[in-house]
Amino acid sequence: MGIRTGEQYIKGLRSRKPEVWLGGRKIDDVYAEDVFRQPIHEIAKLYDMQHDPEYQDRITHICEETGERVNNSFLVPRKFEDLKARSDLFEIWSKATFGTMGRTPDFLNVTITSMASNTWFLNQYDPQWGENMINYFQHVRDNDVFLTHAIINPQNDRSKASHEQEDAFTHLGVVEEKPDGLVVRGAKMLATLAPITDEVIIYSFPGFQPGDEKHAIAFALPIDTPGLKIMCREPAQDGKRSLFDHPLASRFEEMDALLVFEDVFVPWNRVFINQNVEAANLLYPKTGIGIQPAHQSGVRGLVKLSFAMEVACKLADSIGVDGYLNVKTQLGELIQSVEAIRALLRVSEYEYETTPQGELRPGSAPLETIRGMLPKLYPRAIEIIQTIGAGGLLMSPMGADFDNPELKPIVDKYYVGREGVSSEDRVQLFKLAWDLSGEAFGQRLLQYERYYSGDPLRRLGWFYDGFKRKYDFAMVKDALDGASDMHKKQLIKN
Ligand SMILES: Cc1cc2nc3c(=O)[nH]c(=O)nc-3n(C[C@H](O)[C@H](O)[C@H](O)COP(=O)(O)OP(=O)(O)OC[C@H]3O[C@@H](n4cnc5c(N)ncnc54)[C@H](O)[C@@H]3O)c2cc1C
Repeated sequence: MGIRTGEQYIKGLRSRKPEVWLGGRKIDDVYAEDVFRQPIHEIAKLYDMQHDPEYQDRITHICEETGERVNNSFLVPRKFEDLKARSDLFEIWSKATFGTMGRTPDFLNVTITSMASNTWFLNQYDPQWGENMINYFQHVRDNDVFLTHAIINPQNDRSKASHEQEDAFTHLGVVEEKPDGLVVRGAKMLATLAPITDEVIIYSFPGFQPGDEKHAIAFALPIDTPGLKIMCREPAQDGKRSLFDHPLASRFEEMDALLVFEDVFVPWNRVFINQNVEAANLLYPKTGIGIQPAHQSGVRGLVKLSFAMEVACKLADSIGVDGYLNVKTQLGELIQSVEAIRALLRVSEYEYETTPQGELRPGSAPLETIRGMLPKLYPRAIEIIQTIGAGGLLMSPMGADFDNPELKPIVDKYYVGREGVSSEDRVQLFKLAWDLSGEAFGQRLLQYERYYSGDPLRRLGWFYDGFKRKYDFAMVKDALDGASDMHKKQLIKN
């Protein structure tokens, strides 16, 4: 089949009955729920872009293996142009959501592509796992499947290993091996967009300890597999608020969910790792799934930071405060943070590494630097928007006030901006800024930037360890050697 349309995606969603729980209520049809409908349409638009002549050649390609047109996120990069083709896709899709949706289908497509092009890793443990992965990749690619993922354990007692938790199946684990597959029980989080996806893939960040064997697994399943409960967090919007009042929250909220597996059956052909602590811990660092999706995240993060920068600049301009030096310096700082991320991204693309298998990976140090810096730069961007918007961010009238003839002259008089900026333009801008910086929606976006890629503190620690292992600190050696030589010569001279 290859690339799907938005309509095909929605039809697929409506044909299934995943067990979705929202606010204590079981949801029969996600599309019929106000909370989900607009986000579904936003994802559908991305699928439609694959058929739009304006974008098609920049976000899709003809698959060499099948002759069908498929998304660029399924391209295994073998040359610089492939990396560029993926980068173009990431940019075009993230601009369509202003970077506010982090788990658009490309993110996990890239992850699966990376796993499938590195099956040498799985084959070391069991060639069947590698074969399953390749078949799964082909299934996702050829049917344009939309995936969610859940890679961390519930946050109960982080001081204890999986096998030490009070209930042996708090963290997802294998209950039973059957002739035709595994039975799994327990929970995983934090599955963003789960209610409106087609399938879920489970794997883990490193961290399993000896004794955790039954938890050390990786597999994929359709999202409507019996026994799989999708428990949604409280929505940040109700799906009914006006687009005028909530221009972002009304459109782009990504629901996050806890996945609870109540003795769920996983057929063998969907198992990628079975009860192997070493394989589960090394999957992330060895198969490129740390780096290849970081390319998507880096591009998306840049788009989101650039969007925040634009909002801040326009906000300041709309009320004529960008002539003040304190405001200018904050905006200048924001523009420079965008430039720093942009530069890192370009360096990562040009300074790619080639694996022994011939796969290109964007430079890991600059991408990891983006991962380390965005959790600081994005919250700072939000702080700048809040500082510049000040009380005005809270004081906007509602769209309905503009429609009331008695109130219209009042809002026009007291909400007009600097010369040339109408009351409506100014209020819309402030509402955009408040959605991004103040609303529950905006706070989630902030928390996403801090944690979507794992704990930034531990990541920085790993980054330092890796750096220390590879870096030769040659200049220190040269400086010491040089000084020592000169010292010896001086001694000889004296
Ligand atoms: C909005 C959002 C969307 C997300 N989407 C997804 C998704 O789609 N799929 C998915 O799988 N995950 C997703 N993530 C989850 C993400 O993977 C985790 O949030 C991240 O890995 C951090 O784990 P945690 O939240 O459980 O925090 P914890 O690991 O519990 O950390 C809590 C605090 O304790 C500290 N801490 C904990 N353990 C240690 C330790 N061993 N050493 C030192 N310090 C420690 C941390 O520094 C942190 O300050 C998402 C997260 C957010 C916020």
